[in-house]
Amino acid sequence: MRFDVVSLFPDMFTVVRDLGITGRAYKQQLWTLALWNPRDFTHDVHRTVDDRPYGGGPGMVMMAEPLEHAVNAAQAGRAADKDQAAHDHKTSVILMSPTGKRFDQAMAQELAHGDGAILICGRYEGIDQRFIDRNVTHEVSMGDFVLSGGEIAALAIIDSAVRLLPGALNDADSALQDSFNTSLTGLLDSPHYTRPEVYQGQSVPAELISGHHANIAIWRRQQSLALTAARRPDLIAAAREAGLLSRADEKYLDQLKRR
Ligand code: SAH
Repeated sequence: MRFDVVSLFPDMFTVVRDLGITGRAYKQQLWTLALWNPRDFTHDVHRTVDDRPYGGGPGMVMMAEPLEHAVNAAQAGRAADKDQAAHDHKTSVILMSPTGKRFDQAMAQELAHGDGAILICGRYEGIDQRFIDRNVTHEVSMGDFVLSGGEIAALAIIDSAVRLLPGALNDADSALQDSFNTSLTGLLDSPHYTRPEVYQGQSVPAELISGHHANIAIWRRQQSLALTAARRPDLIAAAREAGLLSRADEKYLDQLKRR
């Protein structure tokens, strides 16, 4: 897997490259990262990447040309990668944008199954639409809020995809046990506890210290169902729709409703 990031702040990406699970996966060569600064693709002394918006209004807009040259360099870099040359499909060029499709675990999984993508980070008021029309294949949003730049969104995308690569996580922290994933049938995760057994007068739930694996599994499933029903009924509906809720699940949900 190879990510190419087009950004005016490439230094921000040392975080995923060097630290934690994604850092370990990088050292294991499970993924590679190439950074492209649009400023390096300008031809004036000021290395200009932005200009005032046509039609007036506040702020500045990123110019199409430096961005397009950066994307072309990224495409050429990927083509030069021997492994990449084997796949002659088109690389996804993903723009970080509040007007894009809301990013979710299904998209992270789709990315994890592929060979990476080119991620475009906007700054200022945004990007000249002609660059987007000519180069971008997908637009992705982190949610209904506005960031100062696409970098934090791109970091989130890289992190969420890389941690799903086989070998990135230890068995102990398997992604399958996380919220939205298969073994939870897309529901939210159950609460976690560690030592000490009593903290500030509060005990760990008895089920978890029972040593009885079947009861622990039932407790976790019921916690998951209760939390998801309370906070994200849409995920319960989706699991039901996909036929992923067992008879025991439905029975427990029914009990919750009567409470
Ligand atoms: N004027 C734009 C926001 C520009 S914010 C608008 O109102 O839609 C500057 C840059 O930050 C954007 O180009 C985009 O790359 C990034 N960005 C801001 N919010 C984001 C979000 N919720 N998800 C992904 N990227 C975002």
